[in-house]
Order: sequence, then structure tokens, then C-alpha cells
Amino acid sequence: MGEQPARGRKKAAASPPRAAGGGPARAAKKPAKPESHLAMVRRARRINRELAELYPYAHPELDFRNPFELLVATVLSAQTTDLRVNQTTPALFAAYPTPEDMAAADPEKLEEIIRPTGFFRAKARSLAGLSTVLRDDFGGEVPGRLEDLVTLPGVGRKTANVVLGNAFGVPGLTVDTHFGRLVRRWKWTEQEDPEKVEADVAAIFPRSEWTMLSHRVIFHGRRVCHSRKPACGACPIAPLCPAYGEGETDPEKARKLLKYELGGQPGQRLSPPPDYPGRPAPPLGAG
Ligand code: SF4
Repeated sequence: MGEQPARGRKKAAASPPRAAGGGPARAAKKPAKPESHLAMVRRARRINRELAELYPYAHPELDFRNPFELLVATVLSAQTTDLRVNQTTPALFAAYPTPEDMAAADPEKLEEIIRPTGFFRAKARSLAGLSTVLRDDFGGEVPGRLEDLVTLPGVGRKTANVVLGNAFGVPGLTVDTHFGRLVRRWKWTEQEDPEKVEADVAAIFPRSEWTMLSHRVIFHGRRVCHSRKPACGACPIAPLCPAYGEGETDPEKARKLLKYELGGQPGQRLSPPPDYPGRPAPPLGAG
């Protein structure tokens, strides 16, 4: 409480009301008539620019050192937090550093290591299955094409896009629960189906923006624009947001809802990138 996150808070306090944790955010002006598609696209691109200023350090929140580790971590992240995955993978990759090692793992030992991530039997089957396919069909390497990745057990389009965007530099949109919620609040789409959301958002932004846009939107969803209690009163996007007021508008109360580096708390990665302004997450069992 009250602790100053190194750069997140500094930036936040420097330019209110544009930054989280700064002065009171203002409501979006009510448009006199329905917003045109062109106006929505312009507003969406402004939101992306604002997010880029707020989170210049946005990144994937799973710890990984190579495409195989990112693939495995992303499979494990279903139905749990990235923090819990990051606390689990050091022991997993120490025991099974390659697809060959993981394919040959004793199933019970593999289950035991990944147990903290939940659904560990199904996830262990996916990890053993995808490692076997990587070993037998892809020379022990993670393929860099969507059509190959989605043939791996337990790997859907979302996981494939995460791996492509962050391990291979292929632009991809990651439509997870945060991304879907925020882009619907911002009226970039009205779709619920992740593939339709992806198509609508892809039409608004150039491909070169897709991967970083995904990180920024997910960062904002985890730190400010929460599912149940969005921190509208501390949100720099407020002047551009049709959903302003869905959450707490009192600046003081809203500031208390901010999370991770914006709230003075540790982040989700045990090994965050060097430019991350917050504190690393603690190892499993350390708090
Ligand atoms: S709903 Fe509130 S917290 Fe979310 S983006 Fe809009 S103003 Fe910000």
C-alpha cells in the first residue's frame, strides 16, 4: 500500500487525467448522433496510441526463453493466471527442457509438476501429445505456421497466435477474455465469438500493430478495466470510452482498484523484461 512503483506511477502521476492513477478522468462526450464507422476507427486508433504511451513496456506475461517454452506455458495458462503458470514452469523446464524430454516423461511425474495450474491431467495429456508430435513430425522444433500449430494436441487458434506473435514475430491478435471484454466496451465490435472479434479488430488496425495492440489491451484489462469493477475514475482512456461510468468513477476509490505495477504490486512474471517498471513476481510458495 502506498508504495511507489518505479516508473508506472511516475508516468501515471505526470500527466493527469490521461494516465492511470493520475487526476480525475473525464467522461466521453455523448455523441449527438450515432458514431460513423470512420469515427470509430479513428477513436480506436487513438485508444491504441494512448495505451502505447501508458504501457510502453507491454509484453507477454508468460515467462519463456524459446518457442517450445512459450507453447507449453500458453497451453498451461488455460483456466488459470499467468502468475501461477510462471511459478510452475521453472521446475517443469528444468525436468523437461526439450520436446524429446517431455514426450518421454513419466505421466504421473509430469502431472505432479503441473498440478498447481489446475486441470493437470488434461494439460499433461496435451503436453505429452504435442511434444510427441513435435518430436516425430517437426524434427523437435515448434513450427512457425498457424496451420501447423493448430494440428498440435491442445493448441487452438488463440495459443497459435500467441506463439506466432511472440516467438516468431508473425503479427497476431490474441482474443482472450480481457481483449474481448475491452473491445466490446470500446464498441470496436459487438461480436462475442473470438474469431469474429479477431476479424473486426483486424480490419481496424494494420497487421504490424496486432501483436503489441494485443499486449496493450490485455495489460489494460488486467490493471485498470476489470471485468466487475473497472477503475473508470483513474482511466486515461475515459475521454475515448463509450463505457465510462460502468465502473468506479471516484478518482480516489478508482486508484485503489489499479493492479500490478500501477497499483504498486508485483507483476506476473518472475523474469520480466528489463524495461518493466514494476517488481518481479515471487516464486511459488514465496508469497
Ligand atoms: S470502462 Fe472505464 S476503465 Fe474501462 S476503458 Fe472505459 S473508462 Fe476505462
